[in-house]
Amino acid sequence: MRSTASFGRGSVVGAIRNATLACVNLGVLRYYSRMATIAEKSLLAPPDIANRRARFRSQRTSRFTESVIREMTRLAADHKAVNLAQGFPDFPAPEIIKNAAREAITDDINQYAITWGAKPFRDAIAAKYKRTYGIELDPEREITVCCGATEGMMASLMAVTNPGDEVVIFEPYYENYGPDTLLCGAERKFVKLRPPNWKFDRDELRKAFSSRTKAIILCSPNNPTGYVFEREDLEYIASLCQEFDTLAICDEIYEHILYDGAQHIPIMTLPGMRDRTILVNSMSKTYAVTGWRVGWVLASPDLSESIRKVHDFLTVGAAAPLQQAGAVALSMPDEYYTHLSQDYGERRDAMLEMLDGAGFRCFRPRGAYYIIADISGFGYPDDMAFARHLIEDVGVAAVPASSFFEDPRDGSQLIRFCFCKKYETLKEAQERLRKI
Ligand code: PLP
Repeated sequence: MRSTASFGRGSVVGAIRNATLACVNLGVLRYYSRMATIAEKSLLAPPDIANRRARFRSQRTSRFTESVIREMTRLAADHKAVNLAQGFPDFPAPEIIKNAAREAITDDINQYAITWGAKPFRDAIAAKYKRTYGIELDPEREITVCCGATEGMMASLMAVTNPGDEVVIFEPYYENYGPDTLLCGAERKFVKLRPPNWKFDRDELRKAFSSRTKAIILCSPNNPTGYVFEREDLEYIASLCQEFDTLAICDEIYEHILYDGAQHIPIMTLPGMRDRTILVNSMSKTYAVTGWRVGWVLASPDLSESIRKVHDFLTVGAAAPLQQAGAVALSMPDEYYTHLSQDYGERRDAMLEMLDGAGFRCFRPRGAYYIIADISGFGYPDDMAFARHLIEDVGVAAVPASSFFEDPRDGSQLIRFCFCKKYETLKEAQERLRKI
């Protein structure tokens, strides 16, 4: 028997090589076995994992997708496209409001405000509604400050609907109302606003109401159509609300953005509607502070009590220093609002001219800051394909309008542009649209 010591140099090298090879083989083996496990996981397991993980996906969330508007903003950023999709201004907010916010933080208004809103802000809201519309509100029992109109709408619907209740929605509609109602388990009844004037048909509206109708959602001035509901429309809606014992939940976020002499009338001011209306609004659009997330809900004390409960456990409250600045904003003189409408009116006209020049057939809005355009002349199969082309090849982002309809086919030849942008942004978009 040969001892290890008697091995020659070559044998030692051979042994090392063999050992190394063995290690390498073992490593390779481990590597392949690991890869096989990963492959097994990724090839076999995805459905398995997907199935297992479905256990954690609630039924209420599987009925809607992410927001198309906000998705367009992300795509615009990826492709460096001019973002005419999501409705936020790219110009500065008024200096006076920004200073008030800075001061509030410096003055250490940095802790929770009262859940339903800081007193100075609720008082300013009450004073503004009295001054502008003659609506008397009790700031202690009828105003709830929340995190934007988004939360205001969600909290209101959750507070007043039960699963199976019906909610009437005009379409095209602001896309949040879809998930808002679905999350409440409410059934939706859609009623068309038809171009070119975006008027609704009274019989169609009447047929949408039943003894199960808990609420109608009314957005005026309307996003996305720019329609401003007129007194006779509102009177008819109010009569149905009373006949069917229904609430009007009104999104009035564009109340001060009006053109061509259009007038905003809160349905709350109509006879019989004071206690049948939940009015939702926010600072976002009027004061160009969409990122502040400060809004409010006005409703009679019994409704406010339920809304406040939902609000309290959803968010506790809106940012305290920004509510302080909100008190300053809502105390601004009426000229601020007159100027706001004039300024947006000029941007609207510039945008209409630009879209017209690029070959779009536009529907002229009377309020809000969006334009719906017909794209049928461009020969694309649908609005998604056109929106993709617009972002990727032209460098302009807009919102495919199918996302505003229950049946996407209804919006498949429409697209929405917003014009709450600096003139230089609009000019840049105009240059790029020449490529169409
Ligand atoms: N309601 C409408 C009709 C809107 O267009 C928007 C934003 O685009 C919102 C609500 C969101 O409002 P907020 O920023 O106050 O949550």
